[in-house]
Amino acid sequence: MFGKETPEAVRLPYRKFTKPGVRVLRQTVTKIDPATRKVTTDTGVFEADILVVALGVDYDLDATPGLRESGNEFYSFAGAEKLRGILPTFSKGRVVIGVAGAPFKCPPAPSEAALMLHDMLSTRGVRENCEITFVMPLPSPVPPSPETSRALLAAFAERKITFMPGHKVVSLDGKRKVVILDDGQELPYDLYMGVPKHRAAKVVEECGLSEDGWIPVDDFTLATRFPGVYAIGDCADSNMPRAGVFAEAGAKAVASALIAQIRGTSDTKPCTGTGICYIEFGKDQVGRVEVNFYAGPKPTGVYSAPSVELRAEKKLFGSSRRKRWFGL
Ligand SMILES: Cc1cc2nc3c(=O)[nH]c(=O)nc-3n(C[C@H](O)[C@H](O)[C@H](O)COP(=O)(O)OP(=O)(O)OC[C@H]3O[C@@H](n4cnc5c(N)ncnc54)[C@H](O)[C@@H]3O)c2cc1C
Repeated sequence: MFGKETPEAVRLPYRKFTKPGVRVLRQTVTKIDPATRKVTTDTGVFEADILVVALGVDYDLDATPGLRESGNEFYSFAGAEKLRGILPTFSKGRVVIGVAGAPFKCPPAPSEAALMLHDMLSTRGVRENCEITFVMPLPSPVPPSPETSRALLAAFAERKITFMPGHKVVSLDGKRKVVILDDGQELPYDLYMGVPKHRAAKVVEECGLSEDGWIPVDDFTLATRFPGVYAIGDCADSNMPRAGVFAEAGAKAVASALIAQIRGTSDTKPCTGTGICYIEFGKDQVGRVEVNFYAGPKPTGVYSAPSVELRAEKKLFGSSRRKRWFGL
């Protein structure tokens, strides 16, 4: 949305996804029966010995009245593209970056958005005419790593970004131009950039796999309560956050269980609950936090201060996965 990449560069199409022994069917799943491991799509019915559900999340824009008509979201491709058109013309006024509920994908992403917006407005020479307020339901920017949170809070303070933790955005009143928070506070705004409320896909909600909107799984095996059915990634309710690195960690654990089952061994590798997160601090600087959700009673995080060197590492992290998974 800041115009640093082309739309083509950030798309991950499946057309080059060719793996030995894997048949890719580009169909829409319309029904899942977890008890019989039967999946219905728009073109057929499939029965499985093992079923791994990995349908991500849906965005529930209507859960935040006013968001569609009077605000913007930057978590979908279309939303980011729309803001890409708006941001270069925004030169004066109040920006509110808000989160409509937890859990939400990639908890550091809205912090990054605030810092990168500051950069963009500064480069255009209009930062002094603008206010940036960032509202999020979490108590700190990156709760598992107090050190990372402290660094982000310092970066916000340095850039005069107002941070309001512990609050979620419940609605937008486009006529009065105010954002309304969960405690009734009203924040005047000229531009709203939001993270919409997340929910599991409708097909997941309808099939009986979910409880309170998400699929409960064992933290270490990602197994659901249905035999032979696993759930990984954003749709699964493990103790890891919704992020690609943790989807990868869960997928590795499930893969090891399936290999062990086929080989008849007990050589499974439980989910480690670990992942690396690169954080854009603006000014071309990238920080890093290595988090472990299952190491002890509380999650831990090891923080590396922002540097230009970490940008190269982040790039390699992304491109290696792009290549391995999508052949791009
Ligand atoms: C702005 C932003 C920044 C982020 N930054 C990071 C980051 O830096 N690091 C990180 O680790 N994570 C990041 N994430 C989070 C990361 O993108 C997700 O956590 C990750 O993609 C989850 O993987 P998934 O496979 O569970 O879901 P997805 O990647 O969403 O994949 C789900 C797939 O299921 C398909 N699908 C859904 N319903 C159906 C259906 N009915 N039939 C057939 N197919 C269906 C979808 O089309 C999609 O291809 C970010 C997310 C956002 C929005």
